[in-house]
Amino acid sequence: MNPRYKALFEPIKIGPVTAPNRFYQVPHASGMTESNPRVRAAFRATKAEGGWGVVCTGAVSTHPSSDDSPLPFARLWDDNDVRSHALVTDAVHEHGALAGVELWHGGAAVMNRTSRISPYSPSGIPWAATHVGFMGLQKPRIMDKSDIRDVIKWQVAAALRARSAGFDIVYIYAGMGYLGYQFLMPETNQRSDEYGGSVAKRTRFARELIEATKEAVGDTCGVALRISLEELRGRPSDHYESQAHEVVSLLSDVPDLWDVKMDSSPTDCGASRFRPEGAHEPVIDFVKQCTAVPVVGVGRFTSPDSMVSQLNRGVLDLVGAARPSIADPFLPNKIAEGREDDIRECIGCNICIASWHDGVPIRCTQNATIGEEWRKGWHPERVTKNVTNESLLVIGGGPAGLEAALIAARRGYDVMIAEAATEFGGRVNFEAQLPGLASWGRVTDYRMNALKQMPNVQLFPANRLQADEVLEIGACNVAIATGSSWTRHLYSSLELPVNELNGPNVFTPDDFAAGRWPSAGPVLVFDFDNYYLGGVCAEALSKHGLKVHYATPAGHASAWTIMTNEQPYVHQALAHNGIELSTLTLLDSFDGEHAVLSDLFSSETRRIDAAAVVIVGMRLPADDLYHQLLEREAEHAQAGIHTLQRIGDARAPGAIAHAVYSGHEYARQLGDTEHALYLRDLPITEHEPGPASVN
Ligand code: ADP
Ligand code: SF4
Repeated sequence: MNPRYKALFEPIKIGPVTAPNRFYQVPHASGMTESNPRVRAAFRATKAEGGWGVVCTGAVSTHPSSDDSPLPFARLWDDNDVRSHALVTDAVHEHGALAGVELWHGGAAVMNRTSRISPYSPSGIPWAATHVGFMGLQKPRIMDKSDIRDVIKWQVAAALRARSAGFDIVYIYAGMGYLGYQFLMPETNQRSDEYGGSVAKRTRFARELIEATKEAVGDTCGVALRISLEELRGRPSDHYESQAHEVVSLLSDVPDLWDVKMDSSPTDCGASRFRPEGAHEPVIDFVKQCTAVPVVGVGRFTSPDSMVSQLNRGVLDLVGAARPSIADPFLPNKIAEGREDDIRECIGCNICIASWHDGVPIRCTQNATIGEEWRKGWHPERVTKNVTNESLLVIGGGPAGLEAALIAARRGYDVMIAEAATEFGGRVNFEAQLPGLASWGRVTDYRMNALKQMPNVQLFPANRLQADEVLEIGACNVAIATGSSWTRHLYSSLELPVNELNGPNVFTPDDFAAGRWPSAGPVLVFDFDNYYLGGVCAEALSKHGLKVHYATPAGHASAWTIMTNEQPYVHQALAHNGIELSTLTLLDSFDGEHAVLSDLFSSETRRIDAAAVVIVGMRLPADDLYHQLLEREAEHAQAGIHTLQRIGDARAPGAIAHAVYSGHEYARQLGDTEHALYLRDLPITEHEPGPASVN
C-alpha cells in the first residue's frame, strides 16, 4: 500500500462499535427488498468483501405509514423482516465489516399507496408533488402529539428489530425531504407547539428520535443521524453562522455519528455532467467543528488522494460512498494492495439511480456484475477459467467489445480485438468530448488499462475488418461489436419514427463523431431519443457559437433524464446557453433555410429559420458484417469458427450500460453449452403471515 493512504485504514469508534477502516458505504437505494433477500445479501456482502468497513442498507421503513410503493423499499415491520435482514448482516459480518441500517419514515414524501394510511407530516404540506414518486391525490395529515409519539415508538420498535437482525449501526433519518427533514424546514413545519417555530424547536423531533433510539439500542449499536444541510446552510441564524451550524451545534454529540448530505437526489447524487467530485464539501465542511463524534459524508470520491485529503484536512472522519462502491465494490482492497490504477471509477452517469426509479434491482454502467452476484453468480473480480485454449476475435472496440474482450481474457481466452478507428472506445470517444461528459472516458480507460497489461490480448487499432479477413483469421469465437448508427427518421403524431429526412445540412450525432458539424446557424436540434445526447449536442453547438433551437415531442428536454437526476440541470443548461426550447413539438419538413414545426396534439404549424437540422432520434444496429458472415456460414467450419454472435449496440442499440452488460454476459457465458438465465429469489417466510404492524 502507498503509505500516503494509511490513514484510510485506521479503525474508528462509532458509539459502542468500531469500524475497521474509514471506507463507509453510506445508505443507498438498491431496488432490493424483502422479495429478493438473497440478491440483497450477496450485493451488500460483496462490498464488505471488497474492503468497505461499514456497509449500510438503503431506506428501511419503520412502519406501514412509510410506504413508498410503487418504488421498491425495504421494511423492518415484523419477524420475517428480521430474518430477511439477518441474511445481510451475517454476510457482511463474515468479511469483518459493520452493518448499518437506515431506518426511515417518509412522512409526506410517501403516498402510502399500498397501506392506504393517510401520510404523516408536521403541517399538512405536500412534498415535491410534481416529482416522480411523490405525486399523489391525498394531502398529508397534520400530525398531532399522539402521531408524533407513534412515529417515535415505531422507530424504537424497528431499532430493536434491527438489533435482533444483527445490525451494528442504526440510523435516524432527517434528510432528503423525509419526515425528520420536514420537521427541520420552516416551509414544511409551520407548527406553533414545541415542535415548530425556532430552529431549536424544529430540531426537537430529530432529537427525540435519536434519544429514544439510543435508550433502546445505544448500549450495543452505534446510533447515526443522517441529515441534509444544504438549505439550512444557506439560511441565516441569530447566533450561529447559519441554521445548519445551529442544528449541528444543538445536537452536537447526541448521535454517535453524523452522516451529512445534500437535500434532494439531484443535488446529493448529482450526475457528473453537472456536479464535480467533492461537490458536497462547501456545504458540510463545518460539521466537524461543531461535534466531537465522527462525521461521514460523500462526494463521488474515486481517487484515494481526494479521500485521504478529506481526512487530513479535517472535513470528514469516514469517507462515504454510494456510487464509487457500486462501480467498484473492491475499491478499498485495491488501495490496500497498492493497485489504485485498477479502480473501476464511477463515471457519474446515474444509471444506478435510474434503476431505482425504474423499480428494479440496481444496474451500473461500469460494473455489469452489480445486482447479479447471487442471481447469476457473477463476482466483480473473479471469473471461471476457460479450459479449452480457444481464441476469440472481437470486432469493434466500443464499450461492448472492450468488456467482452476483458472478461474473456480474464477467463483465459486468447483474445484479438480489432477496431476500425485509430483509438479504442467507440461511441465513448466522441461523447466524452461533449460538454460535461469527460468522465465518461473512464469506461474506455479502465478497460484499456487492464487489456494492455494482459499477455493473452492482441489489440488491433485502425483495422476495419471485412468478412474475408474474419474468415482468414479463423478465430474459434467471433463477437461482432460493431455498434449502431443514428438514422434521419422523423417522428409521427402516432409517436413512432417515420420517413427519413435526407438532403444537405441534415446531421446526426454520427456526423459529429466523424468531425462533420454544421458551419452556420441557426441549427434546429430535433430530439426524440430523449436521453442525454440531444441536449448535449445542442449545448455543444451553442458553445461553437451557433444559434440553436431544441425541439422535442416529449414534455421536457431530454425527458428520460428525470430518471438520472439530470433533467432540472438540462433545462438550466439550455437556458444558460440561450437555446430556444420547444416541447410537444414535431418536425414536419426542412428546406435548407426553414424548418416547419407542428404541435404534437393540435397539429398547428409554424415556420422557423434553420440553416441546419440535427436529428437525435432513432438508432439501428450497424450489423452488416454479421449478416455477411452469416451468409457465408458454410465456410465457418473450414475457417475454424465455432460461434458467431452480435453483442452490444450491434445486437440492440441502448445506453452504454446495456453495451457493457451485453459484452460481459457474452464473455461470462462463452463456452457454456447450457446455463440458467438467472436464479429466482424468494421472500423468507419462516413465520406465518401476520399483521403489518401492531400499534
Ligand atoms: P457498443 O456501444 O455496442 O460497444 P460502439 O458504437 O460504441 O458500440 O462501438 C462500436 C465500434 O465498432 C466502433 O468503434 C466502430 O469503429 C467499430 N467498428 C465498426 N465496424 C467495424 C469493423 N468492421 N471492424 C472493426 N471495427 C469496427
Ligand atoms: Fe457510477 Fe454510473 Fe455506475 Fe452509478 S451507474 S455507480 S453513476 S458508473
